[in-house]
Amino acid sequence: MIVKTDPRYWDCECETNYIHLKTNTLSCSVCGMTEDESPDSRPNEIKLYYKNFKENEWMEFFILILGILLYVLDSAQEEDKDE
Ligand SMILES: [Zn+2]
Repeated sequence: MIVKTDPRYWDCECETNYIHLKTNTLSCSVCGMTEDESPDSRPNEIKLYYKNFKENEWMEFFILILGILLYVLDSAQEEDKDE
């Protein structure tokens, strides 16, 4: 069976963040693997990797907005007390 891989990416030996873009990085600073001794990444793994990445970004954005909202609500309550 031939496994379809994406020649633009390669996998290192890390448990997480193991997908590297060849134009960006040719060796992993965490596990020490290099591009030429590692297999290319599989497209479904790349998709999963970027999906998780996007979800994390959204979560951070959401937490930021929530923080601003709580701050605004808090200062609105303090204004009420002054009256
Ligand atoms: Zn690594």
